[in-house]
Amino acid sequence: MSTKLLKNAYKRMFRHYGPLHWWPGETPFEVMVGAILTQNTAWSNVEKAIANLKKAKLLEPHKLYRLSPAKLAQRIRPAGFFRLKTKRLRNFLKFLLDEYEGDIGQLKRQPLGPLRHKLLAVNGIGPETADSILLYALDKPIFVVDAYTRRILHRHHLVKADATYDAMQELFMQNLKADVPHYNEYHAQIVNTAKDFCRTKPRCDHCPLNGVNW
Ligand code: SF4
Repeated sequence: MSTKLLKNAYKRMFRHYGPLHWWPGETPFEVMVGAILTQNTAWSNVEKAIANLKKAKLLEPHKLYRLSPAKLAQRIRPAGFFRLKTKRLRNFLKFLLDEYEGDIGQLKRQPLGPLRHKLLAVNGIGPETADSILLYALDKPIFVVDAYTRRILHRHHLVKADATYDAMQELFMQNLKADVPHYNEYHAQIVNTAKDFCRTKPRCDHCPLNGVNW
């Protein structure tokens, strides 16, 4: 039953938006950095921080880790919570350098399950960030869930308000074929739909999911 519902919802959102070409980022490493910086902040702020790093030619694992924490904090300041994010970014960089010599190719060759487990063990990397890195930077077939996903699923009575991340992820992964481009596009469609329509005060009248046969 849920398979049909989820496919139907996707068709409606895709018909409305067309392809969204996520995740914005020129390289897998840039996507990883963006996934960490975007925690609790708008993407427009992340873009400023990434632009700072690019301008200084620092978007490379070794160079970024060699930068002092104070200088890194200064560069990523526009992304907000910059002290905390400096620590999180450096934890991730240390992991990347210690385990894979900063080589994204090596990281990409790791099997999904064990790699996800290792990412989640890095201090400051939660499920949403880990899965964003896995899906959008490393092309691994894992569905990304976020607060927007929860809001839409809950408003359509598909999950309880306190559903766990894993339960929501399972809903998608048990009902949709493991397919990187599809998982990529589906999450992007959910985010756009929630930002444009499923706000704190929902705008159901013009929403592509209004009347979807959930
Ligand atoms: S805005 Fe309304 S129709 Fe659209 S997803 Fe939210 S609750 Fe559903």
